[in-house]
Amino acid sequence: MSDIIKQYESYVMPTYGRQPVVFVRGNGCYLYNEEGVAYLDFTAGLSINNLGHCHPAVVRAAQAQLSELIHTCNLYYTKPGGELAKLISDASLGGKVFFANSGAEANECAIKLARKYGYDTSGTGKNGSASGVNEKYRIITLEHGFHGRTMATLTATAQPAKQEPFKPLLPGFTYVPANDIDALTAAVDDNVCAIMLEPVQGEGGVHPLKKEFLEAARELATKHKALLIFDEVQTGLGRTGKLFAYEHSGVKPDVMTLAKSLAGALPIGATVAAPAYSDVLTPGMHATTFGGGPVPCAAGIAVMNELTAPGFLESVETKGDFMRSLLEKLKSDGLVTEVRGAGLMLAVDLPEPKAASVVTQALASKIILNNTSEKTIRFLPPLVVEEGMIEAVVEFLQTALSV
Ligand SMILES: *Cc1c(COP(=O)(O)O)cnc(C)c1O
Repeated sequence: MSDIIKQYESYVMPTYGRQPVVFVRGNGCYLYNEEGVAYLDFTAGLSINNLGHCHPAVVRAAQAQLSELIHTCNLYYTKPGGELAKLISDASLGGKVFFANSGAEANECAIKLARKYGYDTSGTGKNGSASGVNEKYRIITLEHGFHGRTMATLTATAQPAKQEPFKPLLPGFTYVPANDIDALTAAVDDNVCAIMLEPVQGEGGVHPLKKEFLEAARELATKHKALLIFDEVQTGLGRTGKLFAYEHSGVKPDVMTLAKSLAGALPIGATVAAPAYSDVLTPGMHATTFGGGPVPCAAGIAVMNELTAPGFLESVETKGDFMRSLLEKLKSDGLVTEVRGAGLMLAVDLPEPKAASVVTQALASKIILNNTSEKTIRFLPPLVVEEGMIEAVVEFLQTALSV
């Protein structure tokens, strides 16, 4: 065993099941191990390295910023934060942005914003309730969703196995099955302050939500004066072939969260609000010391410019369609039972529970894949992937699944 792996075993908490490989360098769609062997990366750091590893525009922007100014804290203004916020706002909800450092933190802010909005609109807030307590605090999330690992976002993550050892959870969350309009309708009342969901459930196994379900969520949220929050931490920023996944359905959220690929693989999170909800959180109500620092924001500006360059998103759609058509052939050959996803966020279900062993086999073949369960393999290649690489991965699958 490599000394590096031994060091991890001795000194790093065992919270991850890591693959037995040490990477020392990344370039485009490839990662390289200590011996310089190249691995074709179809996981992209879990949809983080969307522009590929060490994209030159990201490296240039971050390096330039690193030698100018690294951190001031949020008691002062710096240049990149305002500029990145404007780029995100103009491209999405048109309101204001809160910057944090991760997806969980972006969702934490969205949850607090929703609770504050509920407080303002009933209960102990502006209107005051007969009981004198804020009753508009309930948040609806979907079964098999994933929103992060902090206590609030773990509570929002309706996956009992992940929650069990950490109970009691945060009060006020109700879970409904994805795509079940009746269950959602039954769960939403005037005491709900938010409905929170991923337009395509990522960690849950790449399950796109139906347009009608998203429309019903929009209608119910509006009717009951609740915020519709879309967690686009994984689906956002070109992954599904649109800048934001909500564009596929035409259903606009009131609040959207971003993270993962936003700063070209540097840590960042962003909570984006529509104008009507942009000033719900006021000075002193929410903060994070690192959030919106000049380096990740400078990288984020470079990322936004690349994503919105002419033809870029169209190429994601074309390559997504291409990969999907090859995966559909595996399905007609009976090697996989289902193909799901949008753009370059794709998954296949296997007839047998052997996804983990296929992922291990892939690594031996110098291909990096990820499985979300024993039956589902997920594909999140860098958006700059080439058709030949897609063919190579599907050929590997064809061989691996044929035995
Ligand atoms: C990854 C992910 C998160 C959590 O992001 P972290 O940066 O790991 O905290 C939240 N929501 C979704 C949809 C994600 O895919």
